[in-house]
Amino acid sequence: MRADILPLCDKHYRAMEHALAPVNANYSIQFCRCTDRFCQRCYSEVLGYVTPLKDDPPVVASNQPRCDKHGRPMFILSIDRQRNTVRFACPEPGCHESLTRS
Ligand SMILES: [Zn+2]
Ligand SMILES: [Zn+2]
Repeated sequence: MRADILPLCDKHYRAMEHALAPVNANYSIQFCRCTDRFCQRCYSEVLGYVTPLKDDPPVVASNQPRCDKHGRPMFILSIDRQRNTVRFACPEPGCHESLTRS
């Protein structure tokens, strides 16, 4: 995960924060989660945007964009509220692929 930019939540475009989910004593998964306390939305560079569910595997949205070069799930970099478009970027450090969607 790149440290220079933080993804925005794909539900209400709030900045997310870095978080760690421990898997075992030596290993944990780095992901980002929405800073809204009632929003459960997370972004991981492995899955993309997901809402973690207690007993079921997380479901990735079918419209989750991926980087053409790296195949990585892209995250929302910025939103243009005037044009109603969102810009996606690749989590791979140094990758300049981006995508604009309305
Ligand atoms: Zn959110
Ligand atoms: Zn990329």
